[in-house]
Amino acid sequence: MPQVGQGILKGMGITLKHLFGKKITRMYPEYKRDLPERSRGMLTVDMDRCIACLQCMRICPDHCISIEQTKRDADGSGKPKPYAIGFVIDDSRCMYCSLCVEVCPVNCIYHTEEFEAQAYNRLELARQFGERPVDPTIDPKPPVKKKPKKAAASADGDAPKRAPKKVPPKKAPKEGAAA
Ligand code: SF4
Ligand code: SF4
Repeated sequence: MPQVGQGILKGMGITLKHLFGKKITRMYPEYKRDLPERSRGMLTVDMDRCIACLQCMRICPDHCISIEQTKRDADGSGKPKPYAIGFVIDDSRCMYCSLCVEVCPVNCIYHTEEFEAQAYNRLELARQFGERPVDPTIDPKPPVKKKPKKAAASADGDAPKRAPKKVPPKKAPKEGAAA
């Protein structure tokens, strides 16, 4: 049978322990704790290594990455290749899922230890990389328009209608047969 007041005594014991225990004050923001290993901070991208493959933009579930792509002979080989002239990461939408980091074939987009993203305006949280600013208000992955369903589709789903079964005609009774 549970003892009445046991929870209150236990809670008060913890309170008293901390009331007379050693005080620890962290002088944030001057002093910052070391982040746990594998913690995810704000993203950054190394534009010198980016090959403008757009994979990070395509996989991002929150539509936070927009890339303006062009072609440029950046390495002097005489063959123009895809080049990211503009690159924006919108921190106001990022959920730090790291899918963009995992998909990048050259590991040029990665998390930093920076986590203090604050601004008075949401647009200020869109961080620009590259030579040309990209408009962060334009959705890089607009929803795909679905084709209208055919009028013949049945009302209770998309299953095609079956042709009615053919019923064989009834044979006429022979003359003189017993009733
Ligand atoms: S961490 Fe996730 S939400 Fe943020 S930009 Fe990358 S894919 Fe998008
Ligand atoms: S996946 Fe990597 S290489 Fe490709 S566009 Fe994104 S950052 Fe650049």
